[in-house]
Amino acid sequence: MNLRNFYRRSSTNLNKIMIILSGGTGTPKLLRGLKRIVPEENIYVIVNTAEDRWVSGNLVCPDIDTVLYTLTDRIDDDKWWGIKGDTFFTHEILKQLGYLEPMMLGEKDRSTHIFRSEIIRDGFTLTKSIEDLRAFFRIHAKVLPMSDDPVATMILTPRGRMHFQDFWIKNKGKPKVLDVIFDGLDKAEPTSEVKNALKFEDSVIIGPSNPITSIGPILGLKGIRSMLQKKKVIAISPIVGGKPVGGPAAKLMSAMGYDVSSAGVSQCYADFLDVLVVDHRDDCVIPEVSVLKTDTMMGSLERSIELAKFIVDLV
Ligand code: GDP
Repeated sequence: MNLRNFYRRSSTNLNKIMIILSGGTGTPKLLRGLKRIVPEENIYVIVNTAEDRWVSGNLVCPDIDTVLYTLTDRIDDDKWWGIKGDTFFTHEILKQLGYLEPMMLGEKDRSTHIFRSEIIRDGFTLTKSIEDLRAFFRIHAKVLPMSDDPVATMILTPRGRMHFQDFWIKNKGKPKVLDVIFDGLDKAEPTSEVKNALKFEDSVIIGPSNPITSIGPILGLKGIRSMLQKKKVIAISPIVGGKPVGGPAAKLMSAMGYDVSSAGVSQCYADFLDVLVVDHRDDCVIPEVSVLKTDTMMGSLERSIELAKFIVDLV
C-alpha cells in the first residue's frame, strides 16, 4: 500500500490517540514507524520501569531511554540501547580503576541519567524528570513511566536471586531461570498520567515486547488488567519464525510455564486480548482471539512504517 492510499483509507485513525505499552526494543522499533505516519502528539507510550537500576549514583531507565532516543532518532539501532556514536571513556576508566559498572553507559547517555537523577534527588517524581527530558528533546509524543514507585525485576536461578540486568548482561542470560519476581510491584501504583491515558481511550496497543519482563510489570500494576478488560486490545507478537527476535523472552516464557509461541504470548494476555498480530511465517490459531498475519519483522525503518500502517488501520 502506498502512502497516499494509506492516508486516504486511514484518515480518521490518523487523528486518534494511540496508547502503546512498551519495553525497550521491539515496541520502540514500531514507534519509529508510527511517529512517521501519525501526528506524534497523538502517541502515548506507557513504558516499563521494572528494569530500572541505580548505577554509579544515577538512575538508569533502559526502556524509557530507548523510547526517548528512538523518538529523537538518536538510538543506536545496531544495539537498540544507548545513543548512536556515543563514547565510553568513563565506563572504561572505571573498569581500569577496578570498578566494573553493571551496564555499559556512554557519556551522552550518562548525561540523561544524571539530569533525571538530579530531578529525583530534588524530590520530584520520575514522571516529572521524563517530562523535562521530553521537553528538552522536543519530543511531542507522551512518554509515561508506568509508575513512580520503584519496581525491580529479579531472576531466581540455582545460583540465587539476581537483578534482571545481572542475569542478562553479567551472566549473559545463561543461568537456569526458576522464577521471575518483581520486587515492589505489589506496592507500586500506576501514575495518574497512565490511568488518565487509559481511562479516556477505547483501544490499546501492546507492542512486540517481552510479555514477561517488559509488559508483565505494567500489567501487574493495580487496576491495569481490569482497565484493559474494558478496551479493544491489539497486541503484536514478539515471536517471529517460532522464536523471539532477540533477548531472553523464550527462556523467561518457558520458565513461567508459557509455550514459546504466539499462542503462548496470547496466554499472557488471555483475560483482555482481542486481536493478536502475528508474523506471516508462523502458524497460529487461538480460540476467542482474532489472529491477523503480516510481516512483523522490523529490520529497517521501511518495515517499521509498514507494520505501523497495518496497526493504525486496526485501531
Ligand atoms: P527489552 O526491554 O530490551 O527486553 O525490549 P522489549 O521487551 O521491548 O523487546 C524484546 C522483544 O522484542 C523480543 O522478545 C523480540 O522478539 C521482540 N522484537 C525485537 N525486534 C522485533 C521485530 O522486528 N519484530 C517483532 N515482531 N518482534 C521483535
